[in-house]
Amino acid sequence: MQCGLLGRKLSHSYSPQIHGMLSEYSYGLFETEPESLADFLQSSDFTGLNVTIPYKKAVIQYCDTLSDCAAALGAVNTLVRRDGKLIGHNTDYYGFKSMVEKCGVSVNGKKALVLGSGGASATVKKVLEDMGAFVIVISRTGPNHYGNLHLHTDAQVIVNATPVGMYPDVDACPIDISIFDMLECVLDLIYNPANTRLLQSAQARNIPCENGLWMLVAQAKESSEWFTGQKIPDEKIGKIYRAIRAQMENIVLIGMPGCGKSTIGRELAVKLGKGFVDTDAEIERKAQMPIPKIFENHGEAYFRQLETEAIACISKQSGAVIATGGGCVTRPENYPHLHQNSTIIWLQRDLSLLPTEGRPLSQSNRLESLLAARAPLYADFSDIRIDNNGASENTIQHILDHLQEEYQ
Ligand code: NAP
Repeated sequence: MQCGLLGRKLSHSYSPQIHGMLSEYSYGLFETEPESLADFLQSSDFTGLNVTIPYKKAVIQYCDTLSDCAAALGAVNTLVRRDGKLIGHNTDYYGFKSMVEKCGVSVNGKKALVLGSGGASATVKKVLEDMGAFVIVISRTGPNHYGNLHLHTDAQVIVNATPVGMYPDVDACPIDISIFDMLECVLDLIYNPANTRLLQSAQARNIPCENGLWMLVAQAKESSEWFTGQKIPDEKIGKIYRAIRAQMENIVLIGMPGCGKSTIGRELAVKLGKGFVDTDAEIERKAQMPIPKIFENHGEAYFRQLETEAIACISKQSGAVIATGGGCVTRPENYPHLHQNSTIIWLQRDLSLLPTEGRPLSQSNRLESLLAARAPLYADFSDIRIDNNGASENTIQHILDHLQEEYQ
């Protein structure tokens, strides 16, 4: 049985992995140019296909039948071939509904703003309306636009259905949510990065929020059911979601200079099957000189700027263990970069065990005062704290135990 994903550019897709965990059919990526679409659909030997940008509308003309949902939305993201006939379904509806349910906030009777008026926006609008919400679509060109958001400060739900904030333009944010006093829930269909700037602004206000990974997995589950005709238990969504999240996530180590971030990071990366990156090593590579020389020649401010640039670049990656320099927490702008894809671990080691050789700030300051200044910052940046006073195997085991709990 041959299934797969049809689209134009597919190199970053998680679909093969997700379908690999859902069933046993082979699942390929079919990058197709618009002029070859008809030929591909008519001549290829597939049982089921997922359809993504830019073909969700274009494939409709080749379908013999559309499900009610696909017909109502005017978009097909799942094709199934049965007895030579092509049937078009839309499983994004189920995927987004499942994402709203995961967020745990009732949207019934609430005012919702949906950002963007593309294909995903139409699905989001229909789901929210079917769940009882009153929906306003914000479009760059419609009557409700980014210039008159003040008309909607009573919105309780915001959904980003634009690509704004998606990798690699991770610093972008579609709107400033600070004007919305009644917000109860923020949803972003983007899943790379896991914590977009929009979601981070919701987290800062403790507003329940969710990224698009759950939707991606849930829509895949329903597609898979159409492909095989076999029901898949709903619990499988959470299981696959957690596995993909664990795999995509970066683990960032912060803490005092010499607390063991590089040593532990390297070993942890091997255990987790992730790549390892050391921001200090990246800075030295880029500056083509050792860190003490950077301090000596250009001063700390210059080093901090190089560090921020290195962190911004490295943090866009997924699935890495990242060891940072001890002072990265002194610049608040480093936090959104580090947090966008990561669990941040504060590695703690007794001051008496910290080496100072080759560490400019540890030599010119008393370690006690350095720690006193930085401890609140490490606390603010970190998700968890791990003691690193014993054997490295113990530290690593503690980290693995914490991560295991987080991914439950
Ligand atoms: P799309 O058809 O390209 O539509 C996106 C809409 O966003 C556009 O119609 C436009 O609306 C708005 N937009 C585009 N560029 C913008 C910009 N620079 N600034 C402000 N608004 C902009 O894409 P889509 O298929 O609807 O997908 C939208 C997003 O949802 C993408 O990030 C996609 O990856 C994600 N998605 C996720 C899932 C999932 O399973 N998690 C499923 C589907 C889609 P206006 O012209 O009205 O402003």
